[in-house]
Amino acid sequence: MKNRRSFLKNTAGIALGAPLLSCQSKTDTPPLVRDSGGYIPSERLQKFQKILREPVFDRSLVTGPVMIRSIEIFQSGRHYFIKATSNDGAVGISVTNKKYIRNIYPIILNRIIPHFLDKDARDVEQLIENTYMGMLNYKWQGLAFWVGVAYVELAVLDLLGRVSGHAIGNLLGGRVRNEVSIYYASGNRGNTPEEEMDHLLKLVEESGATAVKYRLGARMSYNAASTQRDKSLIPLVRKTLGDDATIYTDANGSYDVPMGIEIGKILEDYNTAFYEEPCRFDHYEETRAVADALDIPVAGGEEEVSTRQFMWLMDHDILGVVQPDLLFYGGLTRSIRIARMAETIGINCTPHISGSALGFLYMMQFASCVRNIGPYQEFKGNKDKVPVTATDSDLQPSNGIITVPQGPGLGVEFDPDFIKKATKITSI
Ligand SMILES: [Mg+2]
Repeated sequence: MKNRRSFLKNTAGIALGAPLLSCQSKTDTPPLVRDSGGYIPSERLQKFQKILREPVFDRSLVTGPVMIRSIEIFQSGRHYFIKATSNDGAVGISVTNKKYIRNIYPIILNRIIPHFLDKDARDVEQLIENTYMGMLNYKWQGLAFWVGVAYVELAVLDLLGRVSGHAIGNLLGGRVRNEVSIYYASGNRGNTPEEEMDHLLKLVEESGATAVKYRLGARMSYNAASTQRDKSLIPLVRKTLGDDATIYTDANGSYDVPMGIEIGKILEDYNTAFYEEPCRFDHYEETRAVADALDIPVAGGEEEVSTRQFMWLMDHDILGVVQPDLLFYGGLTRSIRIARMAETIGINCTPHISGSALGFLYMMQFASCVRNIGPYQEFKGNKDKVPVTATDSDLQPSNGIITVPQGPGLGVEFDPDFIKKATKITSI
């Protein structure tokens, strides 16, 4: 990011010299503040704000209202799912991450679902906004709130897809690809470099992937042992996988600025494709200092829940790859807006997704309709063995490529027993 950032610094004076003229002549989005007191949103921010006001959901594909009669939480064996049902009896389902639902179900039941009941599902984006603003829910903003919104949104989008016959990707801007190249992310940390290399090789052999991601540091901290592992592992992975492999790394906020730069320079020496969360995710100044000192793109965003914080990070050119988590950040429509913002500044939006439940399917629907997803998408597979099948995809990568199911909604069918045996729950 060094070159691009210094270019921006060099041109900053020009932009400041004629802010009103440039804002008025180069964009059709007027400043949002009438009496700005000298504050003029950057041209980037104005573009981002315009994107916020533009719909993601293509209402024209769903003819007639789809009134939401109920949204309920069900348990089926060791799985939990959310079911949205229309007045006509059509159903949409999202499968939840067990460890989240157990803790956040009261928020879903009491603070999120009420904003969707007896409403037209086609207003899904406005309903999400109403949920954020209603009951002073904005004060609850954080993973626990937005994950709940995401699961409700995904059930509603599945419902809309099933009613209209369209895949979710079609409804959210239109399909731009049918296949997605994946990278496998290792979840290990603390093992030896040799053990980790064996693990990475296994992941590559199983999936045919030519891209991997491995972890550095000690998650939000580092010590002598972890940095020694990092310094051995970085060259070992490149040497073992060869020059053609795409290699990503994730430090999960481990480093301070000096160590972040030191490790980043080693990553550059070994042609690493991105460097995720070198510093604590909410320490923007530290992340900026590391990004300033390096050419390797710094990736981040999986912990972000605030649209405006994403906008600030992109406006200040700190991230070379932006990575909203499709669940933590509140679902597909919100994440697609971040991708559209990223596109205006020429960077990729490669979402983060956890390995639980149906995250891999949500990633595929996102990837099917977003242009700037980058070359490889995070994939952790159907680890929880949720019983889903698709007629047009085996939902597994082959030679590192996975086919996006094109059926209505999520594009998959659940094992009928999974649904039949489920019981509605109001407490866990
Ligand atoms: Mg990460």
